[in-house]
Amino acid sequence: MRTADFVEHLNSYPATDVLVVGSGPSGIAAAIAAARAGASSVRIIDRFGFVGGNLTAGLVGPCMTSFSLDGEIQLVRGIFDEFVRRMEDAGGAIHPSRVDSGTGFSGFMVFGHERVTPFDPEAAKFIGLQMLEEAGVELMLHTFVADTVVDGRTVTGVVVANKDGLGHVPASVVIDCTGDGDVAARGGARFAYGRESDGLVQPMTLFFRIKNVDDDAVDEYYRTHPENRFPFEDIVAAAREDGSYPIPRRGVQLFRTPEPGVWRINTTRVLGMNGTDVADLTSAEIEARHQVADLLEFFRKRLPGLENCELLDTAATIGVRETRRILGEYTLTFEDLQQGKHFDDVIAAAGYPVDIHSPTSGDGPFDDGIPPTANIYEIPYRSLTPQDLDNVLVSGRCLSATHEALAAVRVMPPCFAMGEAAGVAAAWAARDGATIHEVDIPALQQHLLGQGAYLGPTFTAPQGPDRDDETGRDRSTALHH
Ligand SMILES: Cc1cc2nc3c(=O)[nH]c(=O)nc-3n(C[C@H](O)[C@H](O)[C@H](O)COP(=O)(O)OP(=O)(O)OC[C@H]3O[C@@H](n4cnc5c(N)ncnc54)[C@H](O)[C@@H]3O)c2cc1C
Repeated sequence: MRTADFVEHLNSYPATDVLVVGSGPSGIAAAIAAARAGASSVRIIDRFGFVGGNLTAGLVGPCMTSFSLDGEIQLVRGIFDEFVRRMEDAGGAIHPSRVDSGTGFSGFMVFGHERVTPFDPEAAKFIGLQMLEEAGVELMLHTFVADTVVDGRTVTGVVVANKDGLGHVPASVVIDCTGDGDVAARGGARFAYGRESDGLVQPMTLFFRIKNVDDDAVDEYYRTHPENRFPFEDIVAAAREDGSYPIPRRGVQLFRTPEPGVWRINTTRVLGMNGTDVADLTSAEIEARHQVADLLEFFRKRLPGLENCELLDTAATIGVRETRRILGEYTLTFEDLQQGKHFDDVIAAAGYPVDIHSPTSGDGPFDDGIPPTANIYEIPYRSLTPQDLDNVLVSGRCLSATHEALAAVRVMPPCFAMGEAAGVAAAWAARDGATIHEVDIPALQQHLLGQGAYLGPTFTAPQGPDRDDETGRDRSTALHH
């Protein structure tokens, strides 16, 4: 935390109305929404040289469901749906209305895996960039936000480190989309960390992709071995038992991509590390890369369809599932999701269930005995508003939620939906010189509905469902009338 006198000798960048820190799913949506809502200037900062966060740098995919748990209603629409359709038009995605659970695209999972979105990370990089440019957002890449400048409960800017040296970026309203809540935490916002019982967080995973996979052979193995809850679980169990390969998970979590023969692998696992500690991050990257080498050998020697696979790429960063959860005016709980609780200040709806990868073993997801969430649940605006700050919104993985609730809403489609709402709220707060606690919620909800959002059964969407010709499922969005 820094005060105004600290920044006097730093490079000074132009002040911005709305500053979005982090360009992952949440940050992309937040910046586009803020610019479209009329903010006079919007700047987005990211430490990488491209946008996307886990969509791109993390090689994470597919986007988990944007539909209700039963796969019937598309809940996350708006900017997310526009992004997916543009990737699809460029040949880089398959719209979720056409993706069934129990297939390679859904990692052969059934529960919670209806209507996922397979996509190409390069399409995400370019379409994300294009949409930001078209909205008039100013990009500041290769820039790490190292500290927060505060005046009481107000964040007046951030301290950045980049090739220019150390700099100061002043802002009227900030949306913290760093996943880790870096800006809010350094600005003095209280936060929670880890599960209540022992303070542990979910494990980290370095994603990688393989090519030259025999897609049909993998499908055939899944079809003829229905006893496997996770793909190749029987073969993994044998290797773990005889000690030939130290596979860190119960099965191989692999996802087919739109490109034939190319699959994403979500199977490395590093336990007990803190994603806000650089020594832990370094150790985790090292350990995970050794796991990639071991897994590749195991795949080629033991897995049907993967005999000739080759490494296509590894993620630019290890994936961090959980760190700080900023304390907001409301903390979203598992019970809220289970009951499908209605919030007067609902700003997003989602249907992905609680997905906890065990902090202590190779188990999960869905191994913890946690009951299913409601078919549709809601996310309130107050889970994006830190109790301790007046002009900072938190959106995406660092929202105010319990360990269990975060494990559901952390997936990428709800992060887009939160970002879209946060962007509009930030633009309005900057315009009106108001705090983020004073935003007109009914007006925000009407605005989001007008942009094609679905806000749960209490609200009627402005248009009827747009049925997909092939599947008859709802793929509606106001943006594509
Ligand atoms: C291993 C793993 C597997 C997952 N599997 C899936 C899946 O299959 N499907 C799914 O939908 N979701 C999945 N998720 C969840 C999902 O990817 C994340 O929860 C989601 O991306 C969070 O979005 P976000 O926008 O909050 O943050 P992120 O996607 O993490 O983006 C944060 C951005 O902020 C930038 N940043 C962070 N700190 C700073 C800083 N101080 N200065 C400058 N830039 C900064 C980062 O570079 C990044 O670009 C997975 C996550 C992990 C880790």
